Amino acid sequence: MTAPPAPGHAPAMTDGAATHLWRPYTQMKTAAPPLEAVATQGSRIRLRDGRDLIDGIASWWTAVHGYNHPHIAQAVSRQLAAMPHVMFGGLTHAPAERLAARLASLLPGDLDHVFLTDSGSVAVEVALKMAAQLWLNRGVAGRTRILAFRGGYHGDTMGAMSVCDPEEGMHRRFGAYLPGQVFADLPVDAAATAALDALLARHRDSLAAVIVEPLVQGAGGMRMHAPEVLATVARLAARHGLPLIADEIFTGFGRTGTLFACEQAGIVPDILCLSKALTGGTMALAATVARSEVFDAFWSDDPAAALMHGPTFMANPLACAAANASLDLFETEPRLAQARSIGECLASGLSPLRDVPGVADVRVLGAIGVVQLDHAPDLATLKARLVGRGVWVRPFGDIVYLTPALTISPDDLAVLIEALVATVREKAA
Ligand SMILES: *Cc1c(COP(=O)(O)O)cnc(C)c1O
Repeated sequence: MTAPPAPGHAPAMTDGAATHLWRPYTQMKTAAPPLEAVATQGSRIRLRDGRDLIDGIASWWTAVHGYNHPHIAQAVSRQLAAMPHVMFGGLTHAPAERLAARLASLLPGDLDHVFLTDSGSVAVEVALKMAAQLWLNRGVAGRTRILAFRGGYHGDTMGAMSVCDPEEGMHRRFGAYLPGQVFADLPVDAAATAALDALLARHRDSLAAVIVEPLVQGAGGMRMHAPEVLATVARLAARHGLPLIADEIFTGFGRTGTLFACEQAGIVPDILCLSKALTGGTMALAATVARSEVFDAFWSDDPAAALMHGPTFMANPLACAAANASLDLFETEPRLAQARSIGECLASGLSPLRDVPGVADVRVLGAIGVVQLDHAPDLATLKARLVGRGVWVRPFGDIVYLTPALTISPDDLAVLIEALVATVREKAA
């Protein structure tokens, strides 16, 4: 016999509104139920009710080649027939070997040592752990803290959360649970540069590394900075003898107009994290890539000096096959040119919003177009209006943005831009 639910309890599973699934970042009691997707193709998501939505954000920035690219599908089905998965402890396989070699040759400098995991947050955890263990392996104790930048986002696991913006809700809630890190503003001017330099000098003996999202702080608010700012971060980290971790999970694979954002500043970080578009939006995979100087600190006769990490599904062969196929497409199809021409369309299409009341800023970099409002709108209404116009866009906070597939057709891109412009104007009216 079960007691009736007390007031405030969730409805029983038999209630039509209820589901066994626990949704991400969603107050399930008040949110509209999610839309059910049944199929994808190109830049379209087909819903259960037969509607097609044009995806304006490429499934959280992952589907750079659009959905269901046949080249990736074929590579994954071939791999599925041969070997879907095998453990990576003590074993290796061609899809992972090939992917690591290709990433090493595409990434700048001697970023040559690739550790494969299964999500962006874990790639960041591994980077933080690499940095901390790097100092231990060198015989230096007490250097475990990370200098991170306000406005940043690096993931949802504990270590990754600890380097996200300190004012964010997650920090306020989990503060006591998280390691205490050091936060700075990005060195966008002389005063901020001097402040960062002083902060690094003050905390140097307790710091293991500096972490930054190159050129765009993504989920923290889609804020962009000039390549010179990134170059300044790299220069100051080097001046204070600290490894630099570049979190390219959002920016990697063409999103900013170059294959990697770091290229635009001409810097080579010591550790670099990749995930989101690594498999072209098809499978969970991430990489933490280190320069030789970092790797060499782990190369030793001492077993305890080995990198102490190894997820069960690391280097999953299906995901590696998808990533290799995605890299093929970057070689054979003009993704970077597509990113730049999307950027031109976004810039000309969104700029009229600059004069609309309630719009604080319009900014574009590569294939990222951002409209920032004066204050956070009623997100549920905004999202519903965008869906009503046949587009899938996920505004957050005071930000409405487009990060479409790099393969999106000019017509679909025009529909996305028109829908966004009309929705923002409607809000202003
Ligand atoms: C999405 C993201 C992460 C976290 O990746 P998950 O795969 O969601 O764990 C980390 N850093 C940046 C910059 C991201 O955009």
